[in-house]
Amino acid sequence: MTLFQKIIDKEIPADIIYEDDISLVFKDINPQAPTHLLIIPKKPIVKVADASEADKELLGHLMWVAGEVAREIGVEDAFRLVINNGAKAGQSVFHLHLHLLSGRSFSWPPG
Ligand code: 5GP
Repeated sequence: MTLFQKIIDKEIPADIIYEDDISLVFKDINPQAPTHLLIIPKKPIVKVADASEADKELLGHLMWVAGEVAREIGVEDAFRLVINNGAKAGQSVFHLHLHLLSGRSFSWPPG
């Protein structure tokens, strides 16, 4: 069981910003920008590459939630979404998540 499953199950605390039947949004414990949220599905998909065709609606839902939450907290004009897929790409928690980062400038290409 991953750490994020324990957050979903409310076994460990998190600063939860948004929740619905499908997803949960909470603040990253080690923020890399003034706003750094994690958007996760409640379904324990390990990484994007493990999502199935049946998960297409869920994946779209997560991106919709990103926009909704960004509007709610007033960062809709400038934020970056990041997904690290696999340890070699920087993934450290193996429960699919979108990073929503905002409040500073971001370089391109990303590091
Ligand atoms: P990844 O490296 O897998 O893309 O991102 C995992 C993220 O989870 C990291 O940004 C890390 O700071 C965050 N994180 C790790 N443990 C916890 C925790 O216990 N609570 C919260 N809120 N975030 C965590």
